[in-house]
Amino acid sequence: MWKLVLGCIASKAELAKRGVHLADTRCSTCGIGKETVNHIVVLCMLVRSIWWQLCVWTKIPVITQAESFSDMLNGLHLLKGSSKRKKIMEVILAASIWSIWKARNTLRFKGEPFIVSKVVDAIKEESFLWIKNRTAFSGIDRGRWMEFNV
Ligand SMILES: [Zn+2]
Repeated sequence: MWKLVLGCIASKAELAKRGVHLADTRCSTCGIGKETVNHIVVLCMLVRSIWWQLCVWTKIPVITQAESFSDMLNGLHLLKGSSKRKKIMEVILAASIWSIWKARNTLRFKGEPFIVSKVVDAIKEESFLWIKNRTAFSGIDRGRWMEFNV
């Protein structure tokens, strides 16, 4: 599933590899790193601060040492906890990728700034709705969710 999700992300580096001519292959978000898929979802410093804040929110050890998305997935699989908690973490991860991608495109195509705290809020909201409407844990309450008291 993750390969599929990440495969949809057309990074500049990928496009350039496929022969699309781009004058600038630097990251649209930070303007520093070369824009690979791995940079977009893991290495970009703005994205790293999103992961940092999500780790604090979900009370898990900070995973910002990860160098790749598979490092992050492995780290997540090693976490202890119930299957409910694991399911919740997967949903948050998916909502994160989606929200990061959306915010990046809004910056790139509409010129709206990429604001870390706004993306984090969007991730919390998106994952709450997802858990509430699409999983067996529909009894979850918004106030408790925002404090990650689940
Ligand atoms: Zn970047």
